[in-house]
Amino acid sequence: MERETLEVDVLVVGAGPAGLAFAIQMARDCQEKGLEKAILVLDKAEELGHHTLSGAVMDPRGILEMFPHAETDGFPIDTKVSDDAMWWFSKAKKRVFKGALCPPPFRNQGKWIISASSMVKWMAEKAEAVGVEVYPGFAAAEILYGDKGEVVGVRTVDQGVSKSGEKKSNFQPGYDIKAELTVFAEGTRGSCTKQLIRDKKLDENSNPQIWSVGVKEIWKIKKDMAGQVYHTGGWPLGNKAYGGGWIYGLPDNRLSIGFVTAMDHGDASFDYHAKMQEWKTHPAMRELLEGGELVKYGAKTIPEGGLHSMPRCWGDGFMIVGDSAGVMNTQRLKGLHLSIKSGALAAQTAAEAFVTGAVSAAELSRFDQKFEQSWAYQELYKIRNFRQAFQKSFTWGFLRGGLDMLLGGRLPGKLGLQSDHERYTKCGDKIAEERPTFDGKLTFDKLTDVYFSGSIHEEDQPCHLVVPDPDLCVNRCTAEYGNPCQHFCPAAVYEWDPGEGEKAASLMINASNCVHCKTCDIADPYQNIEWLVPEGGGPVYSGM
Ligand code: SF4
Repeated sequence: MERETLEVDVLVVGAGPAGLAFAIQMARDCQEKGLEKAILVLDKAEELGHHTLSGAVMDPRGILEMFPHAETDGFPIDTKVSDDAMWWFSKAKKRVFKGALCPPPFRNQGKWIISASSMVKWMAEKAEAVGVEVYPGFAAAEILYGDKGEVVGVRTVDQGVSKSGEKKSNFQPGYDIKAELTVFAEGTRGSCTKQLIRDKKLDENSNPQIWSVGVKEIWKIKKDMAGQVYHTGGWPLGNKAYGGGWIYGLPDNRLSIGFVTAMDHGDASFDYHAKMQEWKTHPAMRELLEGGELVKYGAKTIPEGGLHSMPRCWGDGFMIVGDSAGVMNTQRLKGLHLSIKSGALAAQTAAEAFVTGAVSAAELSRFDQKFEQSWAYQELYKIRNFRQAFQKSFTWGFLRGGLDMLLGGRLPGKLGLQSDHERYTKCGDKIAEERPTFDGKLTFDKLTDVYFSGSIHEEDQPCHLVVPDPDLCVNRCTAEYGNPCQHFCPAAVYEWDPGEGEKAASLMINASNCVHCKTCDIADPYQNIEWLVPEGGGPVYSGM
């Protein structure tokens, strides 16, 4: 097949906070060093920010380092945190921990409440202002390797292919975009990044990465809570899983609420969406949301493994930044500032490599030194064993986490981790435990929530959720795990039909509902689901 080839100097895959921070810093450093480099940023979303989802209370350190005047330069701050507390839920009651009693990671006074999606649009304008080309609507489908195994670019997804794989009248082959340096900033569980980590064994010296699933809703409520920030713990998770909720007050009587659950709980019938709905039925949540209405919905996975789960982030012709690299502070539930910093540090490394004339692994490996000397590393170093301790037991997690906090991370050692998908308890085909019912006012079923995500895909295209071995679903998964995909997907993509009489059991995949959270790619117990980029579409997370 004839494909058009586009050549640039630097290609960034993903226009999120890390990718755009990289592009901006790269353009600035090139200008300073007298280098002329064509920098291109691709994003799979049809409009910038449409696939970017976060809470978000942002630590402004990263963005202020790059843009000291961001506040007066139109940076989209919804409001600043004026009041914060930790709410501890039992089934019917809440205890409030404020001031000195609020755990330090959840003290957020003065931090910025933002929409990450709006931030990305602002950063993209800044990138274009320094000469970076930003192309939304171009999804990288595969990595292009050179003769020596170096990364030489990516191939974008073919457009206009039917469900059965035939070329339609609007067929357009994907482009080969070649670059001296390709930067993977695809966000959480990027599909190319996953391929790269596997191909190059970039995680051979790391703990496995683990993730959580964050399910978010924006509500319009009756009262003004702008600036109020609360994190919740306890019910409905108790000590069954690591996680909790957030409540962030936005201007115009809007409220960002979300529930995050770590994926290493081991329960094959766990439903992240249903758990978030159940959380909203707590009396304290009911009181907040009473008389309000749902405005937006979204879900995404969040890397939680920390410093010890980061892969090698460089190699011949490539770098990895942001959520794709796993820079996330799980204890604070914050990663945007770290993503921005990792992008900026990678750009400084790359610009120096270009001065020497080669973006080789040897030159790009200097990233490690830069990272280790940065505040981002120091922040992650202090909590490097935090999530591992919680995977062992909650008691150990609180003890070790508390000690680490007191001693500033000085406790020695590197604790190991088990992958999320290896932790399921075999449950046979037991019926999932009782779930909350959805009343359509406070709680919503998955399909209603998908409507509020704005997600849409062309129906007549190859399914972007590939199950390489469908027999495994019928012959083993049903008996061993009860087909967890029907529970863990927060968008009702997977429907399990147990069959009856002559009718065989089968898995139905409603791919057009997909909100690109990547849960299935991570959570399948046999790793039998591959999330590939669709030809377009996906959620519309503007304002999220
Ligand atoms: Fe998330 Fe996978 Fe469901 Fe899509 S199909 S919404 S990526 S779990």
